[in-house]
Amino acid sequence: MPSPAHAVLRRVFGFDDFRGPQQAIVEHVAAGHDALVLMPTGGGKSLCYQVPALLREGTAVVVSPLIALMQDQVEALRQAGVRAEFLNSTLDAENAQRVERALLAGELDLLYVAPERLLTGRFLSLLDRSAIALFAIDEAHCVSQWGHDFRPEYRQLTVLHERWPEVPRIALTATADPPTQREIAERLDLVQARHFVSSFDRPNIRYTVVQKDNAKRQLLDFIGRHRDAAGIVYAMSRRKVEETAEYLCAQGYNALPYHAGLPAEVRAANQRRFLREDGIVMCATIAFGMGIDKPDVRFVAHVDLPKSMEGYYQETGRAGRDGEASEAWLCYGLGDVVLLKQMIEQGEAAEERKRLERAKLDHLLGYCESMQCRRQVLLAGFGETYPQPCGNCDNCLTPAAAWDATVPAQKALSCVYRSGQRFGVGHLIDILRGSDGEKIHQFGHEALSTYGIGRDLDSRTWRSVFRQLVAAHLLEVDTEGHGGLRLTDASRQVLKGGRTVMMRREQAPTREREPRSAQ
Ligand code: ADP
Ligand code: ZN
Repeated sequence: MPSPAHAVLRRVFGFDDFRGPQQAIVEHVAAGHDALVLMPTGGGKSLCYQVPALLREGTAVVVSPLIALMQDQVEALRQAGVRAEFLNSTLDAENAQRVERALLAGELDLLYVAPERLLTGRFLSLLDRSAIALFAIDEAHCVSQWGHDFRPEYRQLTVLHERWPEVPRIALTATADPPTQREIAERLDLVQARHFVSSFDRPNIRYTVVQKDNAKRQLLDFIGRHRDAAGIVYAMSRRKVEETAEYLCAQGYNALPYHAGLPAEVRAANQRRFLREDGIVMCATIAFGMGIDKPDVRFVAHVDLPKSMEGYYQETGRAGRDGEASEAWLCYGLGDVVLLKQMIEQGEAAEERKRLERAKLDHLLGYCESMQCRRQVLLAGFGETYPQPCGNCDNCLTPAAAWDATVPAQKALSCVYRSGQRFGVGHLIDILRGSDGEKIHQFGHEALSTYGIGRDLDSRTWRSVFRQLVAAHLLEVDTEGHGGLRLTDASRQVLKGGRTVMMRREQAPTREREPRSAQ
C-alpha cells in the first residue's frame, strides 16, 4: 500500500516516485518537525512543502520574495485541483479580502505571501485566527547579508517561530555556499532543525572557461553550437547587455535584453517571451534569473567575470533543469579582474565586507585558472568532494598542459618594475614585444632593459602570463589609479630566481565535441 505521501504525490502531482531526499523531507515536515533544505536548482524543492501542505490540517503559508514565481506556482497548483492563493501587491483590495476570508474559513491548502505582507500586524493577527499547517520559507538565502539577494524583511521571519512554536517550519534554498547556509540556520532559528543537504552537482552541465581574445566572436562561436536553443548570456553592465543583444540580433539570433534599467513592462514582456517562445537568447545582468523556471535552457554564457563562485553556480544552474546536456561557458580576461578589483576597492562597503569580496573573487579566479577538473573545484568550494574527474568539463575533455613559465614570469615582473609599476597589461606587452607605438616613445620605454626581451612569445600568450600572475598574487592591480600592475612581496622571490612558476598553457580555440546528456 502506498504511504499517504505517495498517494498525494501520485494523485495530485501525477509523479510516480519521490526524487532524492524528497520523501524523507516530506515525512519529517508532515510529522510536525522543522527542516532546512539545501538542494540545487531543479532538485524539486517545491514538492517538499506542497505535499506536507496537503497532508496536514490547515493552510500552509509559503513565504516567497518572487511575485512572478508565486503566480506561476499558484496557477499550476490550481490546475492540479489544489486550493491555492497568493497575497501580494498585485492583488486589488477586493481580491485580497476574498483570499483572507478563504483563509479564515479554512478553505485554502496553500497561501503564498510576500514577506513584507506577511509581517504586517494585520496579517499576523489574521493568522492568529486561522489554522496553519506549516510555514515554508522559500529562497531562504535572502536572510543572509553575505548572500547575493539580501532582503531585510527576511530577518524578521523569526516571529513565525516565536508566535507559533508548534507549527513546523521548512526553509529552502539552492545556495551551496556553507557560510551562507550556516547564516540561514542561525538567522531563521533552525540550528536545531534537521538539515537536508543534497549534492550540488549538476552532472548534465558541461563547464568551460576560455581566455578572452575577441569576446563577441568567441560568444558567437559558442552560441553557434546551440542554434535555435534557449540560453542566457550574462554581462556585467546594462550597456554591455544591450550591446550584446543588438550584436546577436544583427547576427540573426532572437536575442532580448534584460536589466534593472529597463521599464518594468519591457522586462516583464522580455521575460515572458523567454519563457514561452523557443530559442530566445536572453542577454542580461544578474537582475535576471532568480525564480525563472524554464527547464530547457541549453546554455548559460558569461561574457564578464561573475563576482563569486556562489553567484556563478546560481547563474549557471539555470541551464539544464530538464536534465538534458547543457553548457556553462565563461569567457574572461585580465580586464575583468582589474575592473572587479576596482569595483570592490572603490565601493562603499565596510572593510570586513571588502575582505570577503576579495576572497570570493580570488576563489573564482582559482577556479578559472585551475588545471583540475572544474566540477571538482566547483564542488570543493561548497564543501563537497567529487571523487573522480568528471569527464564533462573542458579540463577533463582536453586536459590543459602545464608549462614552466619562470623565465617569462621574470621578464614580465621585471618589466613591471622597470616601467614604474603603473602601467596596464597592454602597454607592458608592447614593451616586452618591442612595439614601435607612440606611447612607448612618449615614455621613452624603448630605452628600458626589458624592451623587446619578450618577442619570443605572442601577445596572446603574454596576456595569459599576466593574467595568471595576477591570479597567483605575483602581481597586484593598482585599484586607486588606472588599474596598472604592481609587484607584490611574492614577486621578489620569482625575480631573485628562488621560485619556479608553472602556468596553464592556453588552448588554441578548437572545435568542441558534442555535449552529452546526464546519465
Ligand atoms: P527547485 O525549486 O528545487 O528548483 P522545482 O520544485 O521547481 O525545483 O522542481 C523542478 C522540476 O522537477 C519541476 O518541473 C518539477 O515538476 C519536477 N519534479 C520535482 N519533483 C519531482 C518528482 N518527484 N518526480 C518528477 N518530477 C519532479
Ligand atoms: Zn571535469
